[in-house]
Amino acid sequence: MIRSADELVKYLDLPVSLAKQAAAGEKQFPVRVTRHYADRIEKGNLRDPLLQQVLPLDAEGLMTEGYSSDPLAESQFQATQGILHKYHGRALLVTTGACAIHCRYCFRRHFPYQDHRQSLSDWEESLQIISRDPSISEIILSGGDPLMLTDSHLGKLLSVVESTPHVRTLRIHTRLPVVLPTRVTEGLLQLLSETPLKTVIVIHSNHPREIDPLTGDALEQLSRHADALFNQAVLLRGINDNGNTLAELSETLFQHRVLPYYLHLLDKVTGAAHFDTQSHTIDQIMQDLRSRLPGYLVPRLVQEIPGEKSKSPVWA
Ligand SMILES: *Cc1c(COP(=O)(O)O)cnc(C)c1O
Ligand code: SF4
Repeated sequence: MIRSADELVKYLDLPVSLAKQAAAGEKQFPVRVTRHYADRIEKGNLRDPLLQQVLPLDAEGLMTEGYSSDPLAESQFQATQGILHKYHGRALLVTTGACAIHCRYCFRRHFPYQDHRQSLSDWEESLQIISRDPSISEIILSGGDPLMLTDSHLGKLLSVVESTPHVRTLRIHTRLPVVLPTRVTEGLLQLLSETPLKTVIVIHSNHPREIDPLTGDALEQLSRHADALFNQAVLLRGINDNGNTLAELSETLFQHRVLPYYLHLLDKVTGAAHFDTQSHTIDQIMQDLRSRLPGYLVPRLVQEIPGEKSKSPVWA
């Protein structure tokens, strides 16, 4: 695990001056990259689309109008620590603040994770809220990355969710199969196949180069043990904001039995404005994707607008 810009820059034979540039951004949101992910990055290439997702730049220090530390107004929706219930039928549990990789565009970069405790007894209050509300039929494990929890921890959480009669579906939002494919363990696969809940896994990959053979195998394993397997991506300037890259991403993922779900417009979080895409480019990209892919490989372009009852479609 790489835990500083200094280490990352050395590992990838990049100019040392880059590590200095990263200092301010690092203070706000530390650098974290798995070896697996770092090994997908081309050494010495400053423009590498994977590198750009993990290396802090000077631009993170810019204050930009319209950007804030809590762009989704999540702090308003927390019924209690660790649960977000914004949409009908679905409650999202913040199971842990930890991630195996820190993505610089992440809207949770300012999230007060230390307030989100992680032992099972701490979830009791969230789980009680769920058991008292029969309208909730799906529990989404999110974070951070819920697969940062051990299999035994996940198993305990699952058995509590399973004992709530109105919950039928368990969804896991995770980037770990992409950045640390060895996390897809026998134990995890067993949990998925044994639970009576319907299981949905939503991975997060933004670029076809993130899908190497190990990750591909992990995804195929997941698809055999879960009821549905999807990918969500974020549209990122200079990284995947063109039809070629996104078409290749959909096609590569489908080779490993993953279907595209959402393509998110960037959440306007302070420090990430340099990742935002222009609207004329967005139109072009979507037209391009529609004209070259089968409908089932075209992701739904959405934006999260605080107060709305669902994610909002951007391009119909
Ligand atoms: C995105 C999100 C969901 C899931 O929405 P879907 O459209 O079902 O994928 C649920 N709860 C919260 C708080 C969310 O941000
Ligand atoms: S929550 Fe997801 S997008 Fe954000 S830093 Fe963690 S892995 Fe990256």
